[in-house]
Amino acid sequence: MRPRHSVRVLVDGPSELEFNYSVPEALVPRVQIGSRVRIPLRNRRATGTVLEVETLPDEGKFRLKDITDLIDDHPVLTRKLVELGRWISSYYRAPMESVMRSLLPEAVRSDVTAFREINVVSLAREISVDELAALEQKAPRQAEVIVKLQQSTEPVAMSKLAAASVRALEKKGVVTVALQEVGRDPHEGVHFIGSEPLALNPEQEVAMETVLSALENPSEAPPILLFGVTGSGKTEIYLQAIQAALNAGKTALVLVPEISLTPQTVDRFKTRFASMQSEIAIFHSHLSAGERHDEWHKIHRRQARIVIGARSAIFAPLENLGIIVVDEEHETTYKQENPPRYQARDIAVVRGKMEGAVVLLGSATPGLESYQNALSGKYTMLRLDQRADDCQLPLIRVIDMRLEGKRLQKGMPGIFSEKLRIAVDKRLEDSEQVIFFLNRRGFATSFVCQGCGFVAKCNHCASSLTFHQSEDKLVCHICGFRKLMPRKCPDCGDPSVRLQGYGTERVAEAVGKVFPKARVARVDADTMQRKNQLRETLAAFKSGKLDILVGTQMIAKGLHFPNVTLVGVLNADLGLHMPDFRSGERTFQLLTQVAGRAGRGEMKGEVFVQTFTPHHPAVQFARHHNFDGFAEQELEMRKLCSFPPFSHCVLITVRSTNERMAEFTLETLHKRLEKELPPAILLGNPAPSPLVKAADQYRFQLMMRAKSAPTVTRYLNTIMEKMTFPEEVFVVIDVDPMYLG
Ligand code: ADP
Ligand code: ZN
Repeated sequence: MRPRHSVRVLVDGPSELEFNYSVPEALVPRVQIGSRVRIPLRNRRATGTVLEVETLPDEGKFRLKDITDLIDDHPVLTRKLVELGRWISSYYRAPMESVMRSLLPEAVRSDVTAFREINVVSLAREISVDELAALEQKAPRQAEVIVKLQQSTEPVAMSKLAAASVRALEKKGVVTVALQEVGRDPHEGVHFIGSEPLALNPEQEVAMETVLSALENPSEAPPILLFGVTGSGKTEIYLQAIQAALNAGKTALVLVPEISLTPQTVDRFKTRFASMQSEIAIFHSHLSAGERHDEWHKIHRRQARIVIGARSAIFAPLENLGIIVVDEEHETTYKQENPPRYQARDIAVVRGKMEGAVVLLGSATPGLESYQNALSGKYTMLRLDQRADDCQLPLIRVIDMRLEGKRLQKGMPGIFSEKLRIAVDKRLEDSEQVIFFLNRRGFATSFVCQGCGFVAKCNHCASSLTFHQSEDKLVCHICGFRKLMPRKCPDCGDPSVRLQGYGTERVAEAVGKVFPKARVARVDADTMQRKNQLRETLAAFKSGKLDILVGTQMIAKGLHFPNVTLVGVLNADLGLHMPDFRSGERTFQLLTQVAGRAGRGEMKGEVFVQTFTPHHPAVQFARHHNFDGFAEQELEMRKLCSFPPFSHCVLITVRSTNERMAEFTLETLHKRLEKELPPAILLGNPAPSPLVKAADQYRFQLMMRAKSAPTVTRYLNTIMEKMTFPEEVFVVIDVDPMYLG
């Protein structure tokens, strides 16, 4: 009897197929978990990834088909990453195929993108002085090529030489031309000068000791929550912790919320580790497919020891992982909003445990999930309550915009309250810089007819259209639908239309009128479309070529401008009235974060928060820099209502272009759940989603809560298996959702 070597292969493609194949004798030693293989599939050929390898003593009853070939001798995934993938697939109830798409960048999986290769030229043999002299007479340009090659210690790029002469020399056997791989470096041309580790202050010292002892015994160490106010020196802790991991011969993984938005943070890592610059790999959404391909292979070939990236970098194929740092761990961008809908911060904790790596989560405003984990002892809490740079926390002034409206006797106040305007004038006079923050793009948020009350709505979504002046169009921020700005009401033809509400575009215009001498730039998704534009604008601001920056959340995080002494939050209420139990938490985080941009130099900063709800706890606790107070009150409410962190949510959304069908499907599902779920699982009522129509699809939703998410998904699996859903209906399941709707 022959032993049977078989593998379980996940077939590439959307159909979510997994099959067993046998492995031909010759390939047995080379095929491993994570290997890419070619396989026969029905009567075509396909490719796939090996998820399991099995050896049985005999062939068994069934004859399996052989795999055809091995694509690459090195498995693209480690055994641990495959295991992590399985975990994600089960926890988030996501098809393994979608997980695989996250684990392996498309640029790596498809063979379309390859290393960039160039032709390089080298001498094929020695050239004597006489021979060269003769050539100089006959063919001076060929001689020139030879001289250049003789002067260089390495092969020379073809593009730097006269091509025709090279080809002629090649024919004569004097030079050889070969292909050579060159890496694409996303930071090409940027030169970083090294920085030295800082001497830690006593608070940092204590924190560092805990991190170091965790690094010495990582399998015993629970995840660490580094809770430190803005400017308390968390980044310095990350840097020194990473250095310690490297010193121990290990690798490090750093997650940042969205790398293209935090260039300054990335630069600090690049600067500290400047001497090993080529061993740092960077991942973010602005990389080209080629750059992504190269960065990934750099890690895969073990040429990278530090990986810095946004969400998906959590899957970087680093081996011998010593530490995973998650900066701004509370950020919602760590949640992937399409399948497999994973939360990278939580994956960091899972991966850290699987790989025996230290997990270091840092924030000035920890998410209540992590904070509660630290309170309950599941995580180790480290606190930095003092600023490391001796700056003081900024003074936060809350401006009641209701009073401002009354004062002006016209109901609606303008963009800048009088107090804010006077304060900004003063700062500008003293040559200090100002940031205005408003989390809304565009010029005006609605187009309203004075005659009939018509409001311009998107044709495809249940949302009103925003006017963008630069394009002279009304734009839907949900689906991107655009139409030319009508000059009169499309409904009744009345020309007296009004543009209400304001976004960053209008603020920038208003700055020009109210502060005419100030040099202003706007930073939002509309103005920052070109690669490097953000980096350039921030550099101009930093070097004092600009006085005022107007921006959305793009400027809320991680930026460090010593000369910014005033930050104006123009409308703190924007996120506050969302139908979401996290809206208060998010507002608190945002205010604290934005406030952290003020006074990062020697001068004390000042923050103006304009709001119509000045007494809201999120505003008041933020004003007093009181995270603990906010958390205590908020956690009490969450506990009372069994919301996270005291439960896990699973959100079911049913979507369809057919409104009745979507609603009916959800109601049917709800009835089944009602009958079969145990009381320990809290089942909400089916209801329209807050955004009831998006991109032509109607949406209805239902929330379930329980102590653990797998409890819910297990029941869901059995119940949904027994149901069939109409074809035009999509059922989306989001485990631990960050947004409700
Ligand atoms: P956080 O990441 O907590 O916002 P940073 O690491 O950015 O804080 O530190 C804020 C500032 O304080 C930075 O300019 C940093 O260089 C400085 N800093 C941090 N630690 C120290 C230290 N031990 N001694 C002196 N300056 C420090
Ligand atoms: Zn739309």
